[in-house]
Formats: sequence, C-alpha cells, structure tokens
Amino acid sequence: VYAAAVPSSLVFAGSPLDRVSERRKDAAWLAAQLEREESRFLPFWRLNVLVKSEKPELAWATGAIRSIQDPRTGAVLLGVAAGVAHFAVDLSRVDDPVTELGLGGAASFVELRAAAATLSGGDAAIAAQGRQMLDWHARHRFCAACGRATSVKDAGYMRECDECDAQHFPRTDPVVIMLVESGERCLLGRQAGWPVPMYSALAGFVEAGESLEEAVRREVKEESGIAVSDVRYFASQPWPFPASLMIGCLARATTSEVTVDKSELEDARWFTRAEILAALRAPGTGVVMVPPPLAIAHHLIRAWAES
Ligand SMILES: [Zn+2]
Repeated sequence: VYAAAVPSSLVFAGSPLDRVSERRKDAAWLAAQLEREESRFLPFWRLNVLVKSEKPELAWATGAIRSIQDPRTGAVLLGVAAGVAHFAVDLSRVDDPVTELGLGGAASFVELRAAAATLSGGDAAIAAQGRQMLDWHARHRFCAACGRATSVKDAGYMRECDECDAQHFPRTDPVVIMLVESGERCLLGRQAGWPVPMYSALAGFVEAGESLEEAVRREVKEESGIAVSDVRYFASQPWPFPASLMIGCLARATTSEVTVDKSELEDARWFTRAEILAALRAPGTGVVMVPPPLAIAHHLIRAWAES
C-alpha cells in the first residue's frame, strides 16, 4: 500500500527513551532514580511543555523541581536513556511557574502542537508521552467505580482506588482516519471551524466491539454516505490531544454520490488528483488546502496523490 510513501516516523512517535516497563513496579529502583542527581525532570504547566528560548529543545530540570510538583500525580517515569531516568512533572498548581523557577527569558511553557513545529522528533515524542500521561492523571484523581480518591502506582502507569482497590490504567483512544479513493479522485471533508478552504481525510473514534475495518466503513458511510471496501492499513500516529492514536487507512469507494452529515461536517466532496497535487506543491493557492505534515492526514493524502 504505497509502501515507499509511508513516513518512517510521524510527529509524536519515535521517542528515544527506553520505557523500561519492567522497572515500574520496582519501588527501590524508582526511589533511587527520583533521588539521583543525574535524573531529569520535564516540567509541564497546564499541559504546556517547558522549551528553551535560545534553541528548540525541551528544558529539563533537576529533582529540585519536585518541591512544586502536583503531589497527587507525582513524577511520572517517561523512560531511561544512557542510564539516566527521565520523568514528567505537573506544575499546574503554581500560578506563575516561570517566575517561581527563576527562568527569566531562558525557557517558557509552550502548547505542544506549536512546539512540535520546531522540536526534534525525539523531543516531540517525549513531550507527547508526558502530556498524555499528566492529562490522564489530572482527570482520573477519583475512582470510576466508587468515586473515592485514587493514588499513583507503578511510576505513574496505574492509579489504584484508596477505598475499593480498583485499578485504573492510562487510556489510549483509537481513531481511524482514512483516505477514500475512487480512481483519480479522493474524498475529503471539512469541519465548520476550519480555515477556508481546508479539507482533510474523514476520521472517527473506533467504537466498542468494532474492528478497524468496520470503523472505517461505518464512519465514511455516516459522514459522507459513501460505501467503501478494500480497507488497508497505512501508518499510525500518537495524537496526545488528549489521548488518541490516529490509525491511518486507505479505502476504495464503491459508490460516488456524497450525502454530507451536517452534524459532523460542513462539507465533504471529491477532489481530483491534480487539485490535491497543486495543494501540496503550492499551499494556499488552489481550490483546496490540506493539513500540514504534522498530521498523518497530510501523509495519507500525499501518498495517494503521488502514487
Ligand atoms: Zn474505588
């Protein structure tokens, strides 16, 4: 399936850290890493990540920063590189962490989609993992079974209820995103809030008891009225806003008349290969704009157009 066009690593994938999942339950090891001078801590503030000002790199802190971390989350282990443990910490409870940390102009908290435009692929992936984990902790302080408080376990990879012992794990929500093709045309849709004339691949959450192929067929039918077959996997991308995994697919249309579901999309229509190639070569000048390379949709659309 256009194998040559599948990117080797999409933005937010490709972390250089070893996740060391086998160490997470080792309380003695974890305690030692939290105290080690070499250990590195990545500060987040209200889901924005600390980035250096003079160059586009993550701004790591020492363990001293734990004095202002949110104690209900603690330090979440991201992984290990060259024997050094890396953690994410949530400083959201501090009103002005830049002043509190005495950063001056040396670093600032940046929204991750904006930061990803300049960070290295490895740094963007580390920040994605941290953002998704800290957001999960912030929204799962209480037990979904009984409503009582939960406590952090396993270096941040589980929360356990203080009352009923129910165990809660970080979630990743699968989303299918698919380029529907029909010969020299492809089907794209747009949401009302997007800049004109931005169109992208159709997408939707996978539901319970549903295969990826079934989710692709259902979502395309619901949003556009188009029936598809021949669903093929393309590539996947972590999308930590807040917890999605984008699963890129291609599918072939077996019908052609578009009926837009206006509750989901403002429009959906066919574009010719020539229109898409023009949009890729000279963004902002043609009848359609497609998403930037940050998004897997860009790579799906490009792979089809250039095949
Ligand atoms: Zn409980």
